[in-house]
Amino acid sequence: MLGSVLKSINRRLGTQSRAAETRGASAATNDGNPASTPQKPNLALAPDQIDPKWYEGKPGYIQRFVLEMSGECNLRCVYCPQAGENYVPAKALSEGMFDDVLAYLKRHPVDMIDLTGTGDMSMAPDWVDKCERLLALGIKLVVTMNYGTILTDEQIEILSRFTELTVSLDTIDRKILNTVRKAVDVRTIIYNIMRIRAAERRNNTNVRWVVSAVYTAEIVERLPELASFAAAFGANRFQIQDLIEFNEFNIAKKVTDVWTLTGPQAIAAVVATTSAIEIAQRNGLNTLMPPNFVERLDKLREVASQSRNWSSMTQTPGAYFSTFNPAPESGQTRDCVDPWTFVHVMSDGRIRPCCISNLHIGKMQKDQGGMEAAFNSEVAVKLRKQLLTGKLDDLCTACSLRPVIDIASYQKKVRDMTAG
Ligand code: SF4
Ligand code: SF4
Repeated sequence: MLGSVLKSINRRLGTQSRAAETRGASAATNDGNPASTPQKPNLALAPDQIDPKWYEGKPGYIQRFVLEMSGECNLRCVYCPQAGENYVPAKALSEGMFDDVLAYLKRHPVDMIDLTGTGDMSMAPDWVDKCERLLALGIKLVVTMNYGTILTDEQIEILSRFTELTVSLDTIDRKILNTVRKAVDVRTIIYNIMRIRAAERRNNTNVRWVVSAVYTAEIVERLPELASFAAAFGANRFQIQDLIEFNEFNIAKKVTDVWTLTGPQAIAAVVATTSAIEIAQRNGLNTLMPPNFVERLDKLREVASQSRNWSSMTQTPGAYFSTFNPAPESGQTRDCVDPWTFVHVMSDGRIRPCCISNLHIGKMQKDQGGMEAAFNSEVAVKLRKQLLTGKLDDLCTACSLRPVIDIASYQKKVRDMTAG
């Protein structure tokens, strides 16, 4: 049973890809299935053979444009930097900054904007008005929110016009939810969801819904219930995200990483996770898992049944890390083109090249260069060079989102992407 479900998960994962959510949101990825990683002899070009044009960034390469409405959040999920003692969130996006973004979008239109950020969109006082203006430009909107406070009628109406809404919800068990996501009542979340669903019917719109869970031991045994809840309200995708450690805040240690479980607890976690994915798939939901997730489940089951502890064999600390996504070896790099295809405009104007790195490639403010300058800033070009040569910094080495790939295949990918 487990084997056939895992095979089926493998097949599904092999056909999917999606950019990452930022927090809790940040983060989903490509399939991460090692079976799909090309195993070719390494014919990578040396750094001095690489066409400098491959290092360039251009507005036309952007596939995922993230605009953070607010860096503040109303919740304090125990594994989130928001709960860190020294964490200082960025304030809401100012009107002036929003005007700069609109001006950029008029010069370089994008099809879709993700309004997820390091905080919750609902914390921006005028987010409804800003969404109206983006929709008026014909831009599709997606966002991950916590839905933790009762939304107004106006907020419900605008959300019903979004293209995709992700509910960041680890469990629907009220008590357990409060242990990981402080100060939220699941009844409020469900009330908000159902009102948006009702508004979709009124407005003849069709939101794509995603239910997302951060993978911790605290919630894992209730995952089948979460998957069936997602199916019951008509969600389109069920996704699991790795717990990510943020060293400077020492956050993830407040919960237990599933991959550190041993013995019967580990087996129960594997069974519950497999069951949740099977329920989601049987009910027609897409599933999206972190890199190598199926193989990791298999490995956890294997070592748990031999009374061994997998985590002690694999731990590799990094700046922002998940201990279970292997680091690239010689001749390999990360399979990540985010520094070409992704921008995250933070609410204070800093521009990030992906949703893991704490680097900033520039600033949105006109007097500080704006987006066009950021595309080819020193930081942006250096990051691309590192990926193209396999000489990665600590963040990319330890990245939990992207699987590894041989450098030659990666260079070919970038060459094809930048051709023409
Ligand atoms: S909802 Fe939780 S995980 Fe998301 S930004 Fe707020 S505190 Fe962080
Ligand atoms: S940390 Fe590096 S590999 Fe990971 S998403 Fe960011 S740029 Fe890509």
